[in-house]
Amino acid sequence: FSGCATTNPNQSNSNNQTSQTTKTSDNSGKIKIGFSFDTLNLERWQHDRDYFVQRAKELGADVLVQSANSDSQTQYSQCQNLIAQGIKVLVIIPHDGSAIAPIVEEAHKAGVKVLAYDRLIMNADVDAYVSFDNEKVGELQAEYITKLVPKGNYFLLEGSPTDNNAKLFEQGQKKVLQPLVDKGDIKIVGEQWAQDWLTQNAYNIMQNALTANNNKIDAVVDANDSTALGAIRALQEQNLAGKVAISGQDADLANCQLIVEGKQSMTVYKPVKEEATKGADVAIALAKGEDINANGKVNNGKIDVPSVLLTPVAVDKNNMVDTIIKDGFHSLDEVYKNVP
Ligand code: BGC
Repeated sequence: FSGCATTNPNQSNSNNQTSQTTKTSDNSGKIKIGFSFDTLNLERWQHDRDYFVQRAKELGADVLVQSANSDSQTQYSQCQNLIAQGIKVLVIIPHDGSAIAPIVEEAHKAGVKVLAYDRLIMNADVDAYVSFDNEKVGELQAEYITKLVPKGNYFLLEGSPTDNNAKLFEQGQKKVLQPLVDKGDIKIVGEQWAQDWLTQNAYNIMQNALTANNNKIDAVVDANDSTALGAIRALQEQNLAGKVAISGQDADLANCQLIVEGKQSMTVYKPVKEEATKGADVAIALAKGEDINANGKVNNGKIDVPSVLLTPVAVDKNNMVDTIIKDGFHSLDEVYKNVP
């Protein structure tokens, strides 16, 4: 199963060390930004890091990067450490949006502003949020799959339960699915959450779901590409890859390959360069006390966080070239590598 075995984003490679500090220089007077990643073990976050650091450098700022290897406590102490290094802004992709919340007050006490990046920090006075419209991501997934499979048995493979985004994706999906459930067109035969978005967890979940339903699953609304990889591997073992509709998100290379091979139905492409560039712009605006040009607000249980929300795009084999390849996110050759 070519796309899967060789490019599993959960495997380590030289580009995704679990803890790393990128410090460009220590010139006094330069703005220092701390960036705390949940993990760099997923393809997309490596793109975020590279684009963010590049943009910040262009604007004359230094970025200290830390990755918490999907552990809340590690992330917390890494954030404390960054604050102690004299940063002006702390950018966080939380592993757990609730567990990390107290760091916001600690940062503020040290005069450091906090930007929640991609994933919201809950119940805290977060200064800004940069992300995509995440409910829309879920809607795009469910709309696509229900057009492809208007009737039948549906399985929902959701993301990590500690990630607020995973809940928003589910909400968006349910908005589309519920009316069809009520009409009796589709039946949701199961719903499971994959801890830490891991491919292996998703594989186990899908395998069990197939067994429990005697393989009678017509469609899988799957929250992202790392979990879709695992689910497709389980489908493949039952000779069902390509026969069962399945969604994803992130346009990871292995999944784009599966889409053009006909084994994954769609992905949701979120131009990460745009998000990372915006993220760096907002971080620097916060550091300088300037307007962040928010285009919305998202409530985190405590306040309406000023937000910059970008638009996600549904991608299948028909618009792959006009979106992902046109943007240079992946090359034509690498995406079509397994297609004769
Ligand atoms: C992001 C997704 C990503 C997932 C797993 C979510 O918070 O929005 O793009 O696939 O985390 O890393």
